[in-house]
Amino acid sequence: MIIIMLGAPGTGKGTVAGILSEKMNIPQVSTGDIFRKHIKENTKLGILAEKYISKGELVPDEITVDLVKSRLEEPDAQKGVILDGFPRTIKQAEELEKILKEKQTKLDMVINLTTPEDEIIERVENRRVCQNCKAVYNVKLSPPQQEGICDKCGHELVKRKDDNAKTVKSRLETYFEQTSQLIDYYNKKGKLRTEEVSERINRFGKNVAEDIIKEISE
Ligand code: ADP
Ligand code: ZN
Repeated sequence: MIIIMLGAPGTGKGTVAGILSEKMNIPQVSTGDIFRKHIKENTKLGILAEKYISKGELVPDEITVDLVKSRLEEPDAQKGVILDGFPRTIKQAEELEKILKEKQTKLDMVINLTTPEDEIIERVENRRVCQNCKAVYNVKLSPPQQEGICDKCGHELVKRKDDNAKTVKSRLETYFEQTSQLIDYYNKKGKLRTEEVSERINRFGKNVAEDIIKEISE
């Protein structure tokens, strides 16, 4: 099962991907998390990626595609994956298609999450992530039981460096310029499923993931 999570920053891709991954027992492959791990470990790739990430720009396609390609070769990825934050450009989508063809597998579903822009900015500002297990919290909407501590593993929660108002604006611009074209791309292939994630219409995280699992198992 290959599922792609598409959507602007802060729409809840990672949260939904995490729930799907747990329920379907296949790994969540988050390119953002992989880059952040490299940044933390100060690897060559991390140093390079940080230059783009800190400006809210995309890491170049060749680097990102290679990274995903080798991740998909690992044993735990053979039953399928939830791709969280990849592809983000048409080029990446085309390369993914080639990779899947070589592996004689195909894409099952693209889940496109949409959220009103003002809500996105607020959500990103209020987002905290676990340094250890990568669980995502929102200090207003879904706070941890104990402030600053992960409910799941007890480690410290942090705010991502790029989760500030300025970088979010440029991440949103990048999304509209480069990533949003993928909505049309996958719609034409008949793979797209759009879910509105908004406080105002009250659909978030768990419900979205549960609806999707129901649909898949039907
Ligand atoms: P968000 O969706 O909240 O912006 P991510 O963790 O998915 O967060 O991505 C963080 C940053 O990592 C992006 O702003 C971008 O710089 C980089 N990145 C993640 N995935 C990709 C990708 N597929 N291609 C290029 N850059 C990426
Ligand atoms: Zn944790």
